[in-house]
Amino acid sequence: MTLPPDLLDMPFARLGDRLGNPLRLLMVHAHPDDETTTTGATAALYAAETIDVHLVTCTRGERGEILDPEVRRAVDAAADREQALGELRVRELAVAVEKLGIKGSRFLGGPGRWWDSGVAGADTNADPRSLVAGDRREQVDALAAVIREVRPQVLVTYDSRGGYGHPDHIRAHELSLAAVDRAAESDAESDAGFAAGAEADVEAIAELNADAGTESGAEAAPAWSVAKVYAAVVPFSVVRAVARRLGTGGGSPFAALAEALADGVPPDRIDIPYGVPDHLVTARIDARDWLDSKTAAMRAHRSQMPADGWFFKLAAIGDGGFGMEHFQLLRGTPGPVDDGFEADLFAGLRAVDDVDCEPDFGWPEYDQEPAAELP
Ligand SMILES: [Zn+2]
Repeated sequence: MTLPPDLLDMPFARLGDRLGNPLRLLMVHAHPDDETTTTGATAALYAAETIDVHLVTCTRGERGEILDPEVRRAVDAAADREQALGELRVRELAVAVEKLGIKGSRFLGGPGRWWDSGVAGADTNADPRSLVAGDRREQVDALAAVIREVRPQVLVTYDSRGGYGHPDHIRAHELSLAAVDRAAESDAESDAGFAAGAEADVEAIAELNADAGTESGAEAAPAWSVAKVYAAVVPFSVVRAVARRLGTGGGSPFAALAEALADGVPPDRIDIPYGVPDHLVTARIDARDWLDSKTAAMRAHRSQMPADGWFFKLAAIGDGGFGMEHFQLLRGTPGPVDDGFEADLFAGLRAVDDVDCEPDFGWPEYDQEPAAELP
């Protein structure tokens, strides 16, 4: 990956910190493309800053809607459509991950272990392969094992509504919080927890312990406490601004909202199915300099994002606003804020704060005039 020149302007603290205080970010997403659309610019920013960015994707997105007609024809022609789309999206994700500079990318339980559950209420929710129909404890153990291996200070996932209500996004939120707790437990506590489960019989406990030792490995690595957990969110004010910009034309998922706003309906009387009230946003990451990386990763997800789609229209808007990403702190202590928001997901966790960028060593002082000018 080519680093943008802005990296040279980055405060010393942000780079010098890395030597003695390696920082790691883990993002937990539901489907390929979510890492790009909701957190892509932030991931690229931190990756450029030499922070290790890791990604867990819970499913291969086998049941996503294909908007690109050419891709749809190709996938429809496959003997097993869902399997074909899953395999395609694994490849698309690999390219996107490279564009964003993400260091480690994996699927929860391995690719295809749990499937895209489909949208809320779909018959596929009950398919035993679906993420939401899968064994919750096995999923939590699998994610806890990743947390113990990666040892992130910061974990990013969704809010309790999954951003817009997709069951896999809600599940990713629930699994993330449970796995953060699970990863932080000492093995003794974990064992006690299993034994205390009154409904679990001895055989089930033995089976669970065997699973933990072989498949998930949650017991293998030492416990790890994640310092901060965030939900990637979109504030209502941004959803409204996006709706206005995309207008009422076809293709915008916010056309009805744009129409209501244009008709003068007071914003607080309009139900917005996506996003969160602005006051819930606690961190605002200005990653506009990395919007190109985000756009390149979006192009990699061709099966979900046709080149003339609304995501690209937003990315092309001159102020680069699509590179501003918003987060809500769900767990942990907020760091210093600026204008009411943390400007850094690692705020409060860095060895050297941005506000105190003086390096530990002293610069030599020159109290004499230079002897002579260089020719
Ligand atoms: Zn998704």
